[in-house]
Amino acid sequence: MGMEYQKIHACPNDCILYKHEFQEMHKCPRCGVSQCKVKDDDECSSDKNSKKGPPTKVLWYLLIIPRFKRLFANGDDAKDLTCHANGRNCDGMIRHPTDSSQLKKIDCLYPSFDKEARNLRLGLATDGMNPYGSFNTQHSLWPILLVILNFPPWLCMKRKYMMLSMMISGPRQSRNDIDVYLSPLIEDLTKCWDEGVLVFDGFQNETFHLRAMLFCTINDFATYGNLRWMYSVERYIKILKGYTKNLHRPEASIVERYIAEEAIEFCSEYIEKAKPVGLLESRHDERVRGKGSRGLHVITPSVEGL
Ligand SMILES: [Zn+2]
Repeated sequence: MGMEYQKIHACPNDCILYKHEFQEMHKCPRCGVSQCKVKDDDECSSDKNSKKGPPTKVLWYLLIIPRFKRLFANGDDAKDLTCHANGRNCDGMIRHPTDSSQLKKIDCLYPSFDKEARNLRLGLATDGMNPYGSFNTQHSLWPILLVILNFPPWLCMKRKYMMLSMMISGPRQSRNDIDVYLSPLIEDLTKCWDEGVLVFDGFQNETFHLRAMLFCTINDFATYGNLRWMYSVERYIKILKGYTKNLHRPEASIVERYIAEEAIEFCSEYIEKAKPVGLLESRHDERVRGKGSRGLHVITPSVEGL
């Protein structure tokens, strides 16, 4: 169903991710620190830089391309993703991010991207959170959220359509080094922009080349409290914080629970519309729908009748 994730080890000093050319390395080529936790009594041993033991820092990357494919597989979602181009009132008022002058300029610069209404315009948001509350004020997690601006304004900031794409584990704030962690996401977004990916559209029943662009970032500027879009993001981050069930591994429990919720949501939508294959229709179906002579009929008497 495309709900897989990748666990990528990282240097505890935020220098590199252990992928591509660094995948087989045991210690960071820039600062020389081992990627695994080293016990104090192993400090002097020659095995200090071995790959044994739990990793010091892990990045959880929830692959975005299979998630885009799953989104388009649902006919209703695929229809909503094109609502910004179909049948909207275009009177110069800003009712949707696509009405903004910036996006209109981008559409003029890249007409091939604009031609396909299903191409995704994305926003990226992040904020730190502390899964331990007052027990440990130092630990901070950084979930990276993707907002799909193609959806109507009343849907795009809803919990269901805000995608958790990354979880950067603590214990420290990543500050400017967050770009190191964003590299897997940037690779996938670059692929979506340059080549596009083949996606099946469940609404129009056809396969097409989906492209995506990162249109804006949603930031938490403390002094611009009245201008920011962070309310929905902060509310969502609070929900993610509630997913912490194992205080020894907060990131793992948040990501696992998010994926479980995604799977349940997708299956329940899928099964609701699916026709049972090879199963006889129940003779009680008609009654449940309110037809037939027997069933639960609630009769509300009028005032006159009483
Ligand atoms: Zn390093």
